[in-house]
Amino acid sequence: MSRLFSKFPIELWRDYNWQIQNRIKTREELESYIKLTPEEKEGIERTKGIYPMAITPYYLSLMDPEDPKDPIRLQAIPRIVELDEKFQSLGEPDALKEEGEIPGLTHRYPDRVLLQTTTFCAVYCRHCMRKRIFSQGEKAVSHQQFDLMLGYIKSHPEIREVLLSGGDPLTLSGEKLDFILSELRKIPHMEVIRIGTRLPVLAPQRFFKPEILDILEKHSPIWISTHFNHPKEITPEAKEAVENILRRGIPILNQTVLLKGINDDPQIMLELMRKLISIKVKPQYLFHCDPIKGAVHFRTTIDKGLEIMEYLRGRISGHAIPTYAIDLPGGKGKVPLLPNYLLERDGTKHIFRSWNGQMVSYEICEP
Ligand code: SF4
Repeated sequence: MSRLFSKFPIELWRDYNWQIQNRIKTREELESYIKLTPEEKEGIERTKGIYPMAITPYYLSLMDPEDPKDPIRLQAIPRIVELDEKFQSLGEPDALKEEGEIPGLTHRYPDRVLLQTTTFCAVYCRHCMRKRIFSQGEKAVSHQQFDLMLGYIKSHPEIREVLLSGGDPLTLSGEKLDFILSELRKIPHMEVIRIGTRLPVLAPQRFFKPEILDILEKHSPIWISTHFNHPKEITPEAKEAVENILRRGIPILNQTVLLKGINDDPQIMLELMRKLISIKVKPQYLFHCDPIKGAVHFRTTIDKGLEIMEYLRGRISGHAIPTYAIDLPGGKGKVPLLPNYLLERDGTKHIFRSWNGQMVSYEICEP
């Protein structure tokens, strides 16, 4: 536990409900822990009601109280740049066109759907691609809305996979989560349930008690997609949470977002991927940051992403390298982005560039 919170007993610190009940939501509360910059102070005040703030004591404890450029601070504390007109004009609330006919349901690829099950998150990440939901209040999907989602899935037998998203679905009550998973499991063509959650990063205490783990295990096979962005987030608590989830036979994939000033650095990304593998979390995607209103200032160039991917190759084993991908505008889906290793081809003769920059000629033909 950080010295900032050493006055609280360890039993409270390890209690998920305590972490949620004691989220820091105001400038005054935050200032009692760390010295804020004028930009942060104004950011907290001016984003109220638009992009509000909430930070768990645990996530706050990871911040460097002296460094305004600390990567945890940049992800959790509002800054006025979020409302900067120039940046705002470059973004859209729903850049990926997720909202469709059924509220909270996105059906982009034939075999899978995404369901938004709550607008609640333990921390409101400043770069969130669903920043539009921050101002909607903290509420779980209603029975009526969930019925509509279920009806849609039942009438589309090609749907084999559902991604529960939000907000953070694992902040739902155990009872509600169990109900949602039970209903989905009754659908004969439902093969895979995936849950997008950032709780291993923001409030890993959620997985310290068996309640939620029992529910997840009961509805196996379940996959978890989580969202570590920086090596500082891989703590003993995060490791304990991951270990408890894995013990229940639930694989964990990680989706990192490439964020300017936070992880747009080859060395930081290498360290992140190494640490993820060391706690047995598989790096799945490195996403190029989407043009989301209020988060455009986190965007960097494709060249930066490709430079990072080049750096990873050869310095870390293949299973630790994520797929770098970008979501195309208008909801057209993800495409992978790769550095170019095949430089020329002439008939059967190919010229490749190796991971460390050597030019290699290679004859390849069918036998
Ligand atoms: S936990 Fe996920 S959905 Fe919630 S604010 Fe953070 S990135 Fe967005």
